[in-house]
Amino acid sequence: MYTPPMYREYEACTICPRNCGINRNGGKRGLCGEDASLRVAWAGLHFGEEPPITGTGGSGTVFITGCNLRCKFCQNWQISQDGMGLAVTEAGFAEICLELQRSGAENVNIVTGSHAIPAIAAGLRHAKNVGLSVPILWNSSAYECPEALALLDGVVSVWLPDLKTLNPELAANVFHARDYPKAAKKAIRFMADRAPLALTPPDDALPSGRITSGVILRHLVLPNRLADTELVLEWFAEHLAGKALLSLMTQYTPVRESPHAKGIDAFPDRLMTPKEADRLQGLLEDYGISDGFYQELVEDTSWLPDFVRPQPFSSALAKPIWHWRDGFIGREG
Ligand code: SF4
Repeated sequence: MYTPPMYREYEACTICPRNCGINRNGGKRGLCGEDASLRVAWAGLHFGEEPPITGTGGSGTVFITGCNLRCKFCQNWQISQDGMGLAVTEAGFAEICLELQRSGAENVNIVTGSHAIPAIAAGLRHAKNVGLSVPILWNSSAYECPEALALLDGVVSVWLPDLKTLNPELAANVFHARDYPKAAKKAIRFMADRAPLALTPPDDALPSGRITSGVILRHLVLPNRLADTELVLEWFAEHLAGKALLSLMTQYTPVRESPHAKGIDAFPDRLMTPKEADRLQGLLEDYGISDGFYQELVEDTSWLPDFVRPQPFSSALAKPIWHWRDGFIGREG
């Protein structure tokens, strides 16, 4: 039988700004939905990240079950809010990371682990001790406390925070977290202070080079909310320009199957329009931001993942390595 390890930080959990104060070691679950078990939903090579992350081999993504932010519009709602996933030991987590490396992953990219930092830090240290050598990326909502992020010192070298909004009203409407802007800015400053930007030199196979250290600040643009995006661009220009890269994501897609996507009244139930994309380009010019990435508009909902399947994505976008129900894909034993 699986018995979760005990972590001191879980005894009265305040590792994220929700400050639940409950004893996860005793089996209680906070707003993130998780006790002391570390649960993983899916791991595989992902080819849809920014070029310095995807490289040529793909990014070794590990999707963690649970989430402390719980966005109503989350495309990964099956794992972030419906608990799809399997508990793994530190050694089991390490083995998933190593299998990604053996499969050619450019890096190990931990997706949405803010609520499980102590367990993930232990699993990653174990993995490094038994041979993990690729860079480790932390891919999160930035709703995090610097004290908890410090547990990843010496392990994580690249940070991918998604600064979702700097508008407290919007944060209250879609995350029930009015304090999100303040907490996220603090967490992102901590990340930028920790990790100077470094990329390998460009080559013919990969003109962007590969990121080995630093921050790529992501921002998901929401339909009819370009004034909120402008606040993010302004903050980036003032605090991070020259020290980090910016990645604007325009893939917002309504998740009509999600039971959690109710009560969003802050923006319309639609994709972004080409007119909004043009306006966005204008804003980038207004703020003098040219160093970064800009996603093509999506045209329909067909790309939305389904984590019931071992291959949640299209085969062009990802190669599965491990799935919560099936374990390692195509591996004996
Ligand atoms: S990590 Fe989970 S239990 Fe801990 S404070 Fe955050 S939401 Fe609450």
